Amino acid sequence: MSELNEADRYLLEQIRGGSSEGWSQFVDRFEGRLLSFARSNARNRSDAEDLVQETLISFLRALPNFRGDAGFETYLFTILRRKIIDAGRGRGVHVCLLQDVLNSRRADDSNASDARMAAPDPTASWYARRDEQREQRKRALAAALREVVDHYKQSGNFRDLQVVEMIFYSQLRNKDIAEIAGTSHNHVALLKHRCLARLQELVGADVPVSDDGPTDDLVSAIWQEQRLSCLKRSTLGAYLLGTLDEPWRQYAAFHLDRLGCSFCRANLDDLRARDAEDRQALRRRIMESTVGFLSRT
Ligand SMILES: [Zn+2]
Repeated sequence: MSELNEADRYLLEQIRGGSSEGWSQFVDRFEGRLLSFARSNARNRSDAEDLVQETLISFLRALPNFRGDAGFETYLFTILRRKIIDAGRGRGVHVCLLQDVLNSRRADDSNASDARMAAPDPTASWYARRDEQREQRKRALAAALREVVDHYKQSGNFRDLQVVEMIFYSQLRNKDIAEIAGTSHNHVALLKHRCLARLQELVGADVPVSDDGPTDDLVSAIWQEQRLSCLKRSTLGAYLLGTLDEPWRQYAAFHLDRLGCSFCRANLDDLRARDAEDRQALRRRIMESTVGFLSRT
């Protein structure tokens, strides 16, 4: 299933055809959010800029294999995340700030291994299709997981979605999740069990995970890769303008501020910067068109 809309596919065709205009549009659209994400993970601005540049080069190189299984943004973020990990020689990149906070709070927890934070290399493992059967299983599980997450959203059950998100997306421990959600350890375990049971029902096979997180399983990998509970750009825009209705507003605040999703925060930074640019342009236009009237008053 392609995640690209008609405009995306048109842009992709232009880029594949070697259009520099199309490529410039693409870079303009994504460089801000990529840079913001890179800056929160790189040593300095110049390293961050190099990483973004390399990410865009990788995107072009992998263009023949790009199938649109993920949207542009998700695909680019996955490449960038991989590059940050490689640049840091194995240091993990967390998907949200809460992981950093909780991991530093329990410095003795050796389970917080770097390996489980490592992002896959999308240009290699996602699209090379070296193991078609494994890819098919993964796609089936991804579709099932998307259905489960969509069900939470559509039924407005954001309270449970937040718990399940902390289990799989943020890979927090049940104990920490219970504390944050203001619920019991048992309730967290129950929600996890229900979610896995539904997934098993949908894919018709076992979905192996550990009983008490952090989990290093396929469900987490898929959730992180595809960012199933992340906010759409339009939703972030509405949040920024203060026009987002409940319960979405509350969920967006949780995802951005409590969980501290690194991808969505980078996206929000980019939206804020563009908003500031637009306002500067508007001010210039207003000044140019009005300054002539000053002397007449
Ligand atoms: Zn997010």
